[in-house]
Amino acid sequence: MSTVVTTRTALLRARAAMDGTVAVVMTMGALHEGHLSLVHRARELADHVILTDFVNPLQFGPNEDFDAYPRDLASDVAQVEGLVDLVFAPSVEEMYPLMPPPVTVSAGRLGTVLEGARRPGHYDGVVTVVTKLLQLTRPHFAVFGQKDAQQLAIIRALVFSLDIPASIEAVPIAREDSGLARSSRNVYLSDEGRERALLLSRTIAAVSAAAPSASGILSALETARRSAPEGVEWDYAFAVDPGTFEEITPEHRGEVLVVLAARVEGVRLLDAAVAVATER
Ligand code: AMP
Repeated sequence: MSTVVTTRTALLRARAAMDGTVAVVMTMGALHEGHLSLVHRARELADHVILTDFVNPLQFGPNEDFDAYPRDLASDVAQVEGLVDLVFAPSVEEMYPLMPPPVTVSAGRLGTVLEGARRPGHYDGVVTVVTKLLQLTRPHFAVFGQKDAQQLAIIRALVFSLDIPASIEAVPIAREDSGLARSSRNVYLSDEGRERALLLSRTIAAVSAAAPSASGILSALETARRSAPEGVEWDYAFAVDPGTFEEITPEHRGEVLVVLAARVEGVRLLDAAVAVATER
């Protein structure tokens, strides 16, 4: 049976007893196949796997869904049974004895563009909790999903900038059969909403079909932006340089990160893909 610990002291004790390599998978719970694909990758990488299960208030804005965010620890623990050594599921007070915390981590410029521009402070909240969880778990590997592409880029910048000795591993997006990227927030969608949400994965497919042409990628996104059906509101649909997060031009060559965010039935949905541009 996986051991569940709720205090930092118990986590540190259990971590100290682990021999060999350790991989951590950080989640906000409400686990689904996407999270489990991260757990499977973690198992391939290391001798021991720690899953963290914590809805981090610092990364939610005042009008966001912190209170409503789905929580079901018993189901989460059952899903990772036999797959992880340890589940760390602390309370907010355990993670943040002083609220607001007197010192936090800044995500820098990358934290202020795209998703960060729509959710001020979100990435500072993410890197603060990720730094704490990296300190507490001292992992050799930390596994993140490509669905949250900007978060992944910022976490890579975090460990690089602060000399944190963990290797950051990325796992491709797990999708439902329809193509919809799996997300804990999908439970908020009606059947009709799920159908409407397919605009995101269809846009990813159109972009992939347009690669390796940079202008083809840009025009696939332009078409998608103009063709949102009723009930879907684009927040953004951009092809950016993965290093700078600036929008690419048709002259761009090399990796392109496609980042999508849209609102369906009041639910914010993300999708992403990496493409390579080799021609105009
Ligand atoms: P969350 O619980 O939403 O904070 O996500 C925890 C981790 O799971 C993050 O690294 C996410 O990028 C990753 N993740 C969430 N959904 C998916 C998905 N559909 N495919 C792959 N990774 C995912």
